[in-house]
Amino acid sequence: MVCRSLSVAGRRVCVMSTSQQPAEPATDGSATPVVPRPAVAARSEAVVEPVPAAPADGTAAAPAAGDEGTEQTARSAPPTSLSPSRASDFMQCPLLYRFRVIDRLPEKPSEAATRGTLVHAVLERLFDDPAAERTVPRAKAMVPGQWSRLLETRPELGELFAEDPGGERLSRWLGEAEQLVERWFTLEDPTRLEPREREMFVETELESGLRLRGVIDRVDIAPTGEVRIVDYKTGKAPRPEYSEGALFQMKFYALVIWRLKQVVPRRLQLVYLGSGDVLTYDPVTADLERMERKLLALWEAIRLATETGDWRPRPTKLCGWCDHRAVCPEFGGTPPVYPLSVSPRASAENGQGRMGPV
Ligand code: SF4
Repeated sequence: MVCRSLSVAGRRVCVMSTSQQPAEPATDGSATPVVPRPAVAARSEAVVEPVPAAPADGTAAAPAAGDEGTEQTARSAPPTSLSPSRASDFMQCPLLYRFRVIDRLPEKPSEAATRGTLVHAVLERLFDDPAAERTVPRAKAMVPGQWSRLLETRPELGELFAEDPGGERLSRWLGEAEQLVERWFTLEDPTRLEPREREMFVETELESGLRLRGVIDRVDIAPTGEVRIVDYKTGKAPRPEYSEGALFQMKFYALVIWRLKQVVPRRLQLVYLGSGDVLTYDPVTADLERMERKLLALWEAIRLATETGDWRPRPTKLCGWCDHRAVCPEFGGTPPVYPLSVSPRASAENGQGRMGPV
């Protein structure tokens, strides 16, 4: 097996394509890490404690596919915690963060994001079946049922196909979801996996008081106690120069696990169903310390922006996917009145709302 090795921030990242089967956990109910290295996790109890159920809505205003990051703030309340998705929002565009977290402006569901949610549901539920029954036909057959289930919990998703009386678009969309599910079997073998956790809600509070939270798609634990964090992506793997960004979410989760359990996850694994790639990264303590510093700086910028009400737009090509262009000054719009009180001490001239390098 050949691993396409990339250097990201001085560390090794491995990208395997569909033709390169990653090593799989044994059938003894646990995951087997892939690359021999001194164990960094020695406690088999890592991440096995009961955790609170994920919030029922599972999202802030607009989750992306498989994006479970949430800040469970009351409407128009200052943010109290940080998830990978909302941290990414702020880094992308502070004003977008405000619209989603502070104003909680509604966003339309998208076919791509909803397909991601559907595929995640199938991959999660498949592990309810005995290992030998986790087959491609079985997984594909679950797609329509999981879609019905999703519609029951989020009826607004029905809008996606409201103007599809013949059902052709829905049929094609479900077929695309089935293809993504099928491709997963070329990347991992669920008959040889017994995840310790699926859709695992995690939350921790750093010494600074910053609360980090999120939902991890899958956690595997080897008999030796080594932890592997797995995340499914229904899109394509990023180009190598963007791998660091892709790993942000995984290092965030690794930091949470480390702070919760004093165990550095042995492996972070991103499974790209859109392109058939698996990207792995083996973090070390220094990575997680760096991530913590980065998040603290990010949170300080968010705190200042919240206090001053100074949320700067940062236009990029991603604006094309932003639901809030009508109220964005970059597109001639006017944001709603800021719903929080602004500190008289705060100065909008201090660069609040902008995220510098951290
Ligand atoms: S349109 Fe662009 S600049 Fe405006 S809020 Fe959305 S992401 Fe930010």
